Amino acid sequence: MMQLAGLVRAGDRAALGRAITLIESKRADHEAQAQELLHALLPDTGKAMRIGMTGVPGAGKSTIIDALGSRLTGDGHKVAVLAVDPTSQRTGGSILGDKTRMTRLAVDENAFIRPSPAGSTLGGVARRTRETMLVCEAAGYDVIIVETVGVGQSETTVAAMVDIFTALQVAGAGDELQGIKKGVIEIADLIVVNKADGDNVKRAQQAVGEYRAALHILTPAHPAWRPRALAVSALKETGLDELWATIEEYFATMRAEGALDDKRRAQQVGWMWSLLEDRLRIAVARHPALRSRLPELEAAVRAGEMTPSLAVSEITRTLGLDGA
Ligand code: GDP
Repeated sequence: MMQLAGLVRAGDRAALGRAITLIESKRADHEAQAQELLHALLPDTGKAMRIGMTGVPGAGKSTIIDALGSRLTGDGHKVAVLAVDPTSQRTGGSILGDKTRMTRLAVDENAFIRPSPAGSTLGGVARRTRETMLVCEAAGYDVIIVETVGVGQSETTVAAMVDIFTALQVAGAGDELQGIKKGVIEIADLIVVNKADGDNVKRAQQAVGEYRAALHILTPAHPAWRPRALAVSALKETGLDELWATIEEYFATMRAEGALDDKRRAQQVGWMWSLLEDRLRIAVARHPALRSRLPELEAAVRAGEMTPSLAVSEITRTLGLDGA
């Protein structure tokens, strides 16, 4: 394991791939090895700019990541693109983080693209992506882009693992603000209106104005940063300089205020609790005395014969958590 850690640190791509395979594996012995590896690599993590990006399919995520990412590698950055898609197991393959969607980055030796780990639960997918992000950081990737589509809670989950959360929107698809769910505008640090080209330029500018007005009345997540909106064309590669400058300004502002460290520390604690919740759920489901009893409790609650609270009391008592 120490040898693998050394190879990852040296930037060996094959070793990085092996490390991520360990992280994604569901075998118990692999899980233990992955934890050992992560522990060894921990001092080398945390140095990247962690950027989240959400957008409906077709919004232009892969086009913009390919365009922006190639510029960044051209400027000497190492860029990793990861994806969070809890539906990837069901659909038999992720539409996110697919190399064929990012043709330039796919052949760029300073870029690394990894599709969403398979998994039926968002918690499991999130854990693997988060750990993969850490391994990429240890391998020297200084820009990590985590993309997601707005499926269920996946946007909130990604926002909780990145420094800056960007929402990619498209103007001209009907009522401008209708396309954005209220929840997204509330967690976005930056709204990027894409496809501002050809006949769409005016509509995009108008949408930017509307987003700015909407953002203005929201209380920012952090007093140091009021979320911005700007227009780009990922296809024509216009507005990308301004986009990157805005992202850099975000980091500079948040760092100067100590807010970035605060945010990451809070994320770590949140992460601890969500890991604990996941583990407890698994422990409950696997508990010998509960395995057969749980379906009965569920049925009783569903039928209204038992209150949820009473069912939980029975479960915690069985687990020996009497005080809970
Ligand atoms: P994703 O599903 O969010 O990754 O979206 P894609 O990047 O695959 O883009 C979906 C479609 O929109 C593709 O046909 C792109 O060529 C097109 N597209 C992406 N960005 C732009 C843009 O800035 N302008 C225009 N006109 N089309 C774009």
